[in-house]
Amino acid sequence: MIKIKNLKASIEDKDILKGIDLDIPKGEVHVIMGRNGSGKSTLANVIAGNEAYEVDGGTIEMNGDDITEMSIENRALQGLFLCFQYPVAIPGVSMAYFLRAALNAKNKHDGKEEMDAVEFLTSAKKILSELGLDDSFLKRSINDGFSGGEKKKSEILQLLMLNPQLAVLDETDSGLDVDALRTVAKGVNEFKNDNNSVLIITHYQRLLEYIKPDVVHIMIDGKIVKSGDMTLVHEVEKNGYAWLAK
Ligand code: ADP
Ligand code: MG
Repeated sequence: MIKIKNLKASIEDKDILKGIDLDIPKGEVHVIMGRNGSGKSTLANVIAGNEAYEVDGGTIEMNGDDITEMSIENRALQGLFLCFQYPVAIPGVSMAYFLRAALNAKNKHDGKEEMDAVEFLTSAKKILSELGLDDSFLKRSINDGFSGGEKKKSEILQLLMLNPQLAVLDETDSGLDVDALRTVAKGVNEFKNDNNSVLIITHYQRLLEYIKPDVVHIMIDGKIVKSGDMTLVHEVEKNGYAWLAK
């Protein structure tokens, strides 16, 4: 699904990613853990194509196509989706308007018919009820006055509606109570299938008890220093990152 080779990136002349190699095949869930400031969100943003970051070297391939220089819009149309660590409020733009516009843009790109209002509402309402959100949620402005949990659930609503090929979740579990965490995990598990991939960035093993990762990577100072399975998560939880930094 995605193949990242020797990726280097900087922001405002500060080197952050220092040669990332990452290969996520179809049907797999990968996890990245690492201390604050190690470059995890930078990697998520560079994968998504955020132009605030400068790519200084390396390549990103998606389904065999080099997307390193591709615009953020085209990456989204190719099926890339990023759940933001800090979702931004957009007062005046309703969730319904935004979701329908995004879906129709994607459908158009895929050569599919536009979704009519009834179809859209039917599928949105089904997902809203699974997420424990009221239908009126669709009328609210994007992230405007949303609680922490609502913001994260809103990202999962978008994920399930847009049904991308690769979903990157940047700390979607941070700050959630146990029930909201379970709901978010359920949403991600519902999304997951043999033809898509998930990259989860997290600090906690809690989420990973619900969403079983195939591979766990540890990132330190802009590099992936170790990859393994769930046992790596338990080791980090117990011993921290210092032993990996050597
Ligand atoms: P993580 O998600 O692992 O906590 P980040 O990718 O957010 O790490 O940040 C990595 C480093 O890049 C940090 O030192 C951070 O201060 C710096 N950084 C990230 N975004 C910016 C920015 N917009 N301007 C300046 N420095 C930034
Ligand atoms: Mg981050």
